[in-house]
Amino acid sequence: MKNCIFCQIVSGKIPAERILEDSLCIAILDINPLRPGHTLLLPKEHLETMLDLPEKTVAHLTKQAQIVARGLLKAGETEGYNLFANNHKCSGQAIPHFHFHLVPRRTGDGIKFQWNTGVYGDDEMSAWGMRIREALEK
Ligand code: AMP
Ligand code: ZN
Repeated sequence: MKNCIFCQIVSGKIPAERILEDSLCIAILDINPLRPGHTLLLPKEHLETMLDLPEKTVAHLTKQAQIVARGLLKAGETEGYNLFANNHKCSGQAIPHFHFHLVPRRTGDGIKFQWNTGVYGDDEMSAWGMRIREALEK
């Protein structure tokens, strides 16, 4: 897609620090890392969210995420990592070309994801469980 930054990185029009590449995907360093080594793993095809990915691509990206994660741990200064993907603008997805974030972590690194957790009211949890199970059957 012409105006997509990640498509331009895939085609080589915009430079990026490439970590891994094959016929279906590339992994690059995030230009504004939460921590050094923050990696983005994306399909080469312009597909917006996880639900747009063909099954084969989902499986491949997940496998490659494992390989990138192993690399981050071996590269040093890293004890763990976060793996996540923002899907749709409301979730924080700034670039509408699907990508996994892999953020290397270590104890005391100061990164805090804001989890404004709540509690369910009476019967609310089971009602939501039912609602989602029914939606899965549709
Ligand atoms: P998201 O908000 O999940 O869509 O994440 C987009 C990510 O892409 C952000 O973390 C940006 O820092 C990163 N980003 C934007 N432009 C570039 C670029 N040219 N090269 C590498 N990473 C980029
Ligand atoms: Zn794209």
